[in-house]
Amino acid sequence: MRSHRFTMASREMSERKNDPAVFHKLYGTKQPRAVYYKRDFLDYALMLVLSALVVGGSYGFGHVLSMAGLALCAFALAMFITRHGIALGVPLILRRPQDVLYMFVYKLRNLKPVYLVALGLLLLENVLIAATPGLPHYADQLRTVALYLFYIHLISLTGYRTAILIAHLAKKELVREILMQTPWKRVIGQKTNITLEIVHAYCTGLLTHIILIAPWYLVIRHAKFSVLFLPVVCVINIIVHMKWMKAINGWFYRDHWLGHNSEVEFVFLHGSHHDAIPSAMIAVLAGEVEGSWAMRWRVELFFLLVKLQSRWPLVPRISFAPVKSAPAGG
Ligand SMILES: [Zn+2]
Repeated sequence: MRSHRFTMASREMSERKNDPAVFHKLYGTKQPRAVYYKRDFLDYALMLVLSALVVGGSYGFGHVLSMAGLALCAFALAMFITRHGIALGVPLILRRPQDVLYMFVYKLRNLKPVYLVALGLLLLENVLIAATPGLPHYADQLRTVALYLFYIHLISLTGYRTAILIAHLAKKELVREILMQTPWKRVIGQKTNITLEIVHAYCTGLLTHIILIAPWYLVIRHAKFSVLFLPVVCVINIIVHMKWMKAINGWFYRDHWLGHNSEVEFVFLHGSHHDAIPSAMIAVLAGEVEGSWAMRWRVELFFLLVKLQSRWPLVPRISFAPVKSAPAGG
């Protein structure tokens, strides 16, 4: 009885935690989106201008990554015109300026407590370094090490991307054939320039990667790290990271839902991801086009786990069913 009550209570708690009124909350109008249309042209162009400014502002306007970012933005604009065309009208951002404000509110409200812990730790370390200028912190040397790690990360992933690019270009007709057997057949036909689609996907990956790691670069450039605090900070950061890995599912679900249901979020933050053919980092479930055995057994294992989970709860089940006491989400 006691354990039954406990199960009921924990189920109620988990349902409240996964309440659709929270996960599917919108202040503006709901507008499901999954593809770009030519009427998005002006908003898309503005998105690229903002992206170029973010890249330039983060890395510095003379930096090689800023130049690369600018070139990639120009390429993305040319690709949009080639692939979707141009239709001029009042941009979404002027029709629904309040949605831009809501976007910031969504991002802030979706922040997990563990994010604030990480931020607090960074601030604390910097306050301690500033308060003890006499101690040998070796902050400059640590910054150099951090920059090396940053560039090693970027160069190795770009190398991996480039290997994927070359492999896809080498078998481009196979890429076309496979995509034509998927929902991509609405976009990819016999006449589609598949080389351009593959290069476009590669460039989308490069640009979004440069933007994704801009905050990391800013932290390295503007925050200080002390060799004295390093052992303690490393241990705490590993714990923080493990906590973050637990929080990320809820964060991602909410953020991705917004990316497809708030039009401003789709056009400015998420659309470019769906605009490119699936050819790179998210191959496992998003369409590794060659269907190699190495990929297939992982996918089969995943589906087996999904089947087992539907029969026996291997991990706690998440319910998105409406909660009776809460008002309907909208
Ligand atoms: Zn999506």
